[in-house]
Amino acid sequence: MSALPSHTSPQSAALLGLAVGDALGVPVEFQSRAARRLDPVVHMRAFGTHNQPAGTWSDDASLTFCLAESLCRGYNLEDIAQRFIWWYDQAYWTPHGHVFDVGVATAEAIRRLREGTSPQAAGGTTEYDNGNGSLMRILPLLFAVQHLPVEERFKRVREVSSITHAHARSVLACFIYLETARELAAGRAKHEAYAHMQQTVNTFLSATGIVSEAERNRFHRILENPYGAYDIRPLSTYQRAEISSSGYVLHTLEAALWCLLRYESYAETVLAAVNLGDDTDTTGAVTGGLAGLCYGLADVPADWLSVLARRADIEDLAYRLATAQQADASCG
Ligand SMILES: [Mg+2]
Repeated sequence: MSALPSHTSPQSAALLGLAVGDALGVPVEFQSRAARRLDPVVHMRAFGTHNQPAGTWSDDASLTFCLAESLCRGYNLEDIAQRFIWWYDQAYWTPHGHVFDVGVATAEAIRRLREGTSPQAAGGTTEYDNGNGSLMRILPLLFAVQHLPVEERFKRVREVSSITHAHARSVLACFIYLETARELAAGRAKHEAYAHMQQTVNTFLSATGIVSEAERNRFHRILENPYGAYDIRPLSTYQRAEISSSGYVLHTLEAALWCLLRYESYAETVLAAVNLGDDTDTTGAVTGGLAGLCYGLADVPADWLSVLARRADIEDLAYRLATAQQADASCG
């Protein structure tokens, strides 16, 4: 027996935190860091890159909500894939009834799904298929795996990433992100959460060898793993110029974790992410999900939430997701 999930649940903090970060970045997507230095984003802007009203979130949040909606009904890869197709073809879970942005790898995978390829085989598998398109939408999976053993958490992260992004680098990025989110959702302060994530991930990778050493070493700035002749410094000590914010999955993950560790409120953290420039909506979304979990919904500025597109629908989705997990836990 436990209380009903409230609107301040981790689910609502995660989903709204991610959507607000996305929406802050949408008007300045593709603009440079130099442009942001001259004209930093400090509030929810309108128009800009995609000519949308203030509070408009993009494909990042749409695909996140598709995944969350599916997880409300249990864990089913075919159902998740079907909702991605509905998003692309029928504007399902869009802010204003149309799709205005989609990543190349995601569009190709959805085309393969539509033609009958299974979700297990639809995602790109080459080194060039490592944009941030699965990282930006993976967060709701946290609530379906957080109480499972680590092997099972990794397996499900791999399955859900692989619907669009099947390369080991995208999978490991999603796994590190969700392990960090899991620690924050458990109530740990961010530096402790980050250290726990490093410990869990490094132990799991060493014990299983499930990811090649070469691939694991790509994450040396995050994991501080002792392999190779790398300069091992804590990520939080890197300078801004050492952090990239392109659409490459590793850059997005590093940027999000760096912002989380360096800044001390939801607003500071997501604005720092957006003001890194370039892939601003996705860096904002990925960072915003973690910052929401870290600081809670009460720390998200009310005037940003008040203009967020479909806020009530997102709150309802978060409530249903929390309720589904409670039902799941009481059945299991
Ligand atoms: Mg986007």
